[in-house]
Amino acid sequence: MPRPILATIHADALHHNLDRMRRAAGDARVWAVVKANAYGHGIERAFDALRAADGFALLDIAEAERVRALGWRGPILLLEGVFEARDLELCSRLSLWHAVHCDEQIDMLAAHKTQAPHRVFLKLNSGMNRLGFAPHRFRTAHARLQALPQVDEISFMTHFSDADGERGIEHQRAVFERATADLPGERSLCNTAALLRQGGDAVLAADWVRPGIGLYGCAPDFPGHDAAHWQLQPAMTLSTRLIAVQLLAAGESVGYGSSFVAEVPMRIGIAACGYADGYPRQAGTGTPVLVDGVRTRTLGRVSMDMLTVDLTHVPDAGPGAEVILWGRAGNGAVLPVEQVAHAAGTIGYELLCAVAPRVAVLAA
Ligand SMILES: *Cc1c(COP(=O)(O)O)cnc(C)c1O
Repeated sequence: MPRPILATIHADALHHNLDRMRRAAGDARVWAVVKANAYGHGIERAFDALRAADGFALLDIAEAERVRALGWRGPILLLEGVFEARDLELCSRLSLWHAVHCDEQIDMLAAHKTQAPHRVFLKLNSGMNRLGFAPHRFRTAHARLQALPQVDEISFMTHFSDADGERGIEHQRAVFERATADLPGERSLCNTAALLRQGGDAVLAADWVRPGIGLYGCAPDFPGHDAAHWQLQPAMTLSTRLIAVQLLAAGESVGYGSSFVAEVPMRIGIAACGYADGYPRQAGTGTPVLVDGVRTRTLGRVSMDMLTVDLTHVPDAGPGAEVILWGRAGNGAVLPVEQVAHAAGTIGYELLCAVAPRVAVLAA
């Protein structure tokens, strides 16, 4: 028998979450962001459930090729644009739309030979300071693009640094409005957090929104809000089984470093999941976990292939019992990935993307 660890991808949840994003988006069209192999869910597995999107947005040309290979003829956007001149040939061949965030990308376009001019999204750096033209250089970049026969329609995009937090998006939105005022073209601003939390004008003024994490059923702003608050459903369940049970006497410890010591006699379970499966080693004692659908906690250090759970409140659970690291239990109980991430000092995004290749994946 293979190790019992398994990632299950829930098509019904992806479907529901896309619907949820569309409702939040008003009249704007929806890019399904499927970078990083659909945030770890697998592009091929997620595709059918997400094909009601208006387009797919991603970073790697190889991923764009996979989306085309699935038969998608609609828009595909390269969120970081091209990395080298050769990529433009694939953009022409696969009809990819691409972001343009720097002068070097315009130089490459100017030198590119193509029959069909490209649709581009000119990116403004409105304050995130990663990619994009500074506001005072935006019009020059726009004029350069406009003069190129290689360029067809020009749209505009920017990305928010604080859509999930207190600072919000207004300061960046004002910069965007000023920089793009009276330039004709479609606009795209919002990620999941902006779409759900800020809604209103930023969404209404936009032609395209770009939700990623929300599609996968993870709240973008935990612990402020959880997935249930946003009516999102987890699209991935990481499950395994207990492979052993131990009885600890008071004063006995478990695992490397003996970091957990029992204060009273207790029953503990050993689950077949460790950091080599993508479970975060930083998750210390007390990280939530479901055993037979009952919420309990991890104990001690996560090791490479195993972790330990408290069975105090699950007295009937023995070897073979279902363990849910995140997602849905057989009895319908849900453990949001963002809660596990929070206990490990990170975010749901990272855990979803980090599920290891050795974990078998099942589409459900
Ligand atoms: C990843 C990404 C998104 C999606 O962000 P979420 O927080 O996952 O919704 C949107 N836009 C850009 C440019 C991105 O890189």
